[in-house]
Amino acid sequence: MTDRDYATARRDLVATLRRRLDVTEQTLSAIGSVPRHEFVPEARREQAYADRPLPIGHGQTISAPHMVAIMIDLLDLEDGDRVFEVGTGCGYHAAVAAEIVGPGNVYSVEYVPALADVARERLDRLGYDVTVRAGDGRTAYRSEAPFDAAYLTCAADGEIPKPVVERVRTGGRIVAPVDDGSGRQRLVRLTLREDGIEREDHGGVRFVPMR
Ligand code: SAH
Repeated sequence: MTDRDYATARRDLVATLRRRLDVTEQTLSAIGSVPRHEFVPEARREQAYADRPLPIGHGQTISAPHMVAIMIDLLDLEDGDRVFEVGTGCGYHAAVAAEIVGPGNVYSVEYVPALADVARERLDRLGYDVTVRAGDGRTAYRSEAPFDAAYLTCAADGEIPKPVVERVRTGGRIVAPVDDGSGRQRLVRLTLREDGIEREDHGGVRFVPMR
């Protein structure tokens, strides 16, 4: 496939997501700007704009585009927001967030050092100014807090880890898959209000477990 074929496939994907999802044009435009084929393994490139997850090595997966769109939309991001991502994977989701919040505002941590290295190099080559570190989402970026928003691309066990919640300012949002203990996962959004935490359930999902 040529770059033009990829661009056409990406436009078709955005049109499909626009029909199927209740998300903002800002979110769709971000999805329409990121070359997903650059983030998937060579052998999977032709499938990069199908709306499905794909393996990225080390037993991990890049989420389906509709899931990235839904999560980005729930974070209600604006230009200049500082965002904390747990689970860089291939870097695709971080690039979509960076399209909205701009350079230097996405801080991502990845448990598998080899994935962190590849994602950092790739994001840099594609012109995304995203900070990528190898480490654990529970301990990373303590001194970079507070963030306006945070999200996990791996499923937390039982509840969203407290250290992640503590890195987000009052008024900020956190989106994450949470395993209820029975192996079933729900997509959860927390909004940190002055007078407490508002928790919403956004349906059943399937992510790799947080380690
Ligand atoms: N957003 C990614 C999806 C990656 S899949 C993308 O667009 O490709 C989830 C990732 O979370 C995996 O790469 C996994 O290694 C990572 N992960 C799992 N537990 C983690 C933890 N405790 N801290 C940081 N990353 C973690």
